[in-house]
Amino acid sequence: MDRLQCKACGSHSMLPMDLEADESDELDFMTDEHEARFFTCHVCGDNWLSVRRVEAGDCRITFVHQMGLQPLLKRTATMTTSIVLNEDTVDRWDYFLGDAEVGEGRWRDTLDERRRVLRSICTN
Ligand SMILES: [Zn+2]
Repeated sequence: MDRLQCKACGSHSMLPMDLEADESDELDFMTDEHEARFFTCHVCGDNWLSVRRVEAGDCRITFVHQMGLQPLLKRTATMTTSIVLNEDTVDRWDYFLGDAEVGEGRWRDTLDERRRVLRSICTN
């Protein structure tokens, strides 16, 4: 089984999940031909979704963190190759809080804060 370490609580409990139809309906950038992966942590509930889309030779991967919380925290990687994602092959990252584009620092602070809250909930 494809099991990843959770970046919020540190346990190896991130498991791939099937997306519920009603959850994917809310994501307007997602259609059937997109390759989507959804992982959730069975210990603290942290989760992320990645959607890969190839368009005219460009590859774009959108990551959404902690679905269910508002505003939606997401970032988009734009690459000129469609090879497996590796931070070095990303030409550009765009960061969003809901519909607003924000700087990387603010985006990471928001994600860190959300993970810190999750961690404190599951260690209490
Ligand atoms: Zn966790």
